[in-house]
Amino acid sequence: MTAIRQTRATCCYCGVGCGVIIESDGTQVLGVKGDPEHPANYGRLCTKGSTLHLSASPVLQQQARALHPELRLERSDTRTPASWDVTLDFMAKKFANTIREHGPDSIGFYISGQLLTEDYYVFNKLAKGLVGTNNIDTNSRLCMSSAVAGYKQTLGADAPPACYEDIALTEVVFIVGSNTAYAHPILYRRLEMARRANPKLKVIVADPRKTDTAREADLFLPILPGTDVALFNGMLHICLWEDLVDMAYIDAHTEGFAALKQTVRDYTPAYVADICGIREQDLVEAARLFGKSRASLSLYCQGLNQSASGTAKNAALINLHLATAQIGKPGAGPFSLTGQPNAMGGREVGGMANLLSAHRDLANPEHRAEVARLWGIDDVPAKPGKTAVEMFEAVRAGEIKILWIACTNPAQSMPEQKLIREALRKAELVIVQDAYKTTASVDYADILLPATTWSEKEGTVTNSERRITRIKAALDKPGEALHDWEIAIRFARKLEALLDKPRTLFPYETTEEIWNEHRESTRGRDLDITGLSYRILEEKGPQQWPFPEGANSGKKRLYEDGLFPTANGKARFVNTIYQPVAEPVDVRYPFRLTTGRLRDQWHGMSRTGTVAQLFAHQSEPSVVMSALDMERRSIRNGDLVHVTSRRGSQILPAISSDEIRPGQAFIGMHWGEEYVSGRGANGDGSYGVNAVTLPAIDPYSKQPELKHAAVKILKA
Ligand code: SF4
Repeated sequence: MTAIRQTRATCCYCGVGCGVIIESDGTQVLGVKGDPEHPANYGRLCTKGSTLHLSASPVLQQQARALHPELRLERSDTRTPASWDVTLDFMAKKFANTIREHGPDSIGFYISGQLLTEDYYVFNKLAKGLVGTNNIDTNSRLCMSSAVAGYKQTLGADAPPACYEDIALTEVVFIVGSNTAYAHPILYRRLEMARRANPKLKVIVADPRKTDTAREADLFLPILPGTDVALFNGMLHICLWEDLVDMAYIDAHTEGFAALKQTVRDYTPAYVADICGIREQDLVEAARLFGKSRASLSLYCQGLNQSASGTAKNAALINLHLATAQIGKPGAGPFSLTGQPNAMGGREVGGMANLLSAHRDLANPEHRAEVARLWGIDDVPAKPGKTAVEMFEAVRAGEIKILWIACTNPAQSMPEQKLIREALRKAELVIVQDAYKTTASVDYADILLPATTWSEKEGTVTNSERRITRIKAALDKPGEALHDWEIAIRFARKLEALLDKPRTLFPYETTEEIWNEHRESTRGRDLDITGLSYRILEEKGPQQWPFPEGANSGKKRLYEDGLFPTANGKARFVNTIYQPVAEPVDVRYPFRLTTGRLRDQWHGMSRTGTVAQLFAHQSEPSVVMSALDMERRSIRNGDLVHVTSRRGSQILPAISSDEIRPGQAFIGMHWGEEYVSGRGANGDGSYGVNAVTLPAIDPYSKQPELKHAAVKILKA
């Protein structure tokens, strides 16, 4: 009888980063259970995590997995299997010629918060260190970039200051722009336990929808989409009037309060209640609860981030925490919940167009010089890279000619799919590196590079509370698939030869060698992990950063000493001013459409869509409307409707729910074109919800406003 192996890893879905134990016989995953020793979940798993083994069944793997490299030499050809050497040689020649002819900025990399930290590190070095372009961005731009910009503007570094334990230590939890019960279920379990242990704990939820999270709140603020800055400024206005701000803390540890104080004078309860569409007394109650409590903790996610004013929303909430000194103490702080499993790790290695290794900034010449020294190259290019939406616009404009997509599916997840599809058709070469051959982006690939996935990968990830987990592979690589970092390195070595560069940049044989280089890059930085090693992570378990050399443990909570990683050690208030959504409703497009996650699905469903029981909660896409709006339009429950914006349309069954206020609508984000029109039949613009979303971006974070579009809804 074959012995059952148990391998420690994490769940590959959300940023809670639950530890799992994979049970396998070495050839297939037989089961999965929560890791009782992992501090993120102590053995608990949600519906998605507990069915991971079902998504890894051999039958499904055979049907959906990309197992061999495929290549086509001409766009009109069909891709056919080719060896790794033939495929990577072809790619390297094409890259070298394109770089010589059009310069390094004619290349773009679009990667993913699903990659492990080591994969991310290598891709970043490949783009910025070898190719010589900063055109590397990731789907984390669609996820956490406004949180990053908000933290940096106010606190000086991209570092969530709180930790999961704070949920048990707080008096008030303020959940905003997050259906935590669905999107971060195991974290929400902690909140349920904290409430049972402390019946006095109050929960305030601000959300346009009355989600399951909102239904459980002590106080629900059903704000209109995009009005968060007005809400936070209004709460600060009330805290000022009622003497709930902490002037001693403000004077000692912050700067810039005078200008903000002047601004929020105008955000009277009546004005804010009108903008937000909420009752004045509820706003006042929320401000009092938040300001008076011994410890207030804010949990927030895409409702703040996926917005054309996402950075201001994040900064305005952090302003509120700074002004009331609700930060740097047990149970208090602004705490962004990471969407993807390793969006944090990607940020740590600088795997985005405006970042460099270890939270360095591309725009800072000293930071560029430090990274060049670490990598042993002359310089890192100074020209800012294209961020996600900008990158696809540049591809469509013919400026970027080669696009390498790794571990993500932009032909479903990016806003305004018409633009994205045009870009993918226009590119001279599209490379898709993925574990699955079933994603919409693969349809556009000239080259398909098969990659390993959950249960097959080695490396590390960082979760929402800055905790790094060492992941081990339970299974061997299937077919001819390679690890993401291996693919990048094999390619890089070929490109180095063609570009006559010294072959020194990618000497790694193991993920540990990559991680050790990343670790060294963090020395002296806010996320210093020089006291950690793979061995320590294995022996002591997952650890939080910072964990500098000589430390015995990581830091649970940041800024307890009132010192911030800014030039003068003070946090900065940002003078946040409310801006309406990018596309207001009007008579032609009268509905405010919001989008979001469903309880049992993950992103584009390439994995969760293979597990039958995950459709029990919701089996098909729909548009959720208020009963009043449906009645006015003679739409009955289940009737098909056209949901149309200025950019596109999709047909969906309409479902009535009291979670939505009249004038609003909601569509889950998971279903793509195959539901509506069949794979490849994409000429009709039916690309799922992103047929209708718009690519308006935040001026600082460059994150698109995926959470709101003006639409009309007509009976089909
Ligand atoms: Fe996975 Fe997130 Fe569920 Fe944990 S809460 S099991 S990380 S999906």
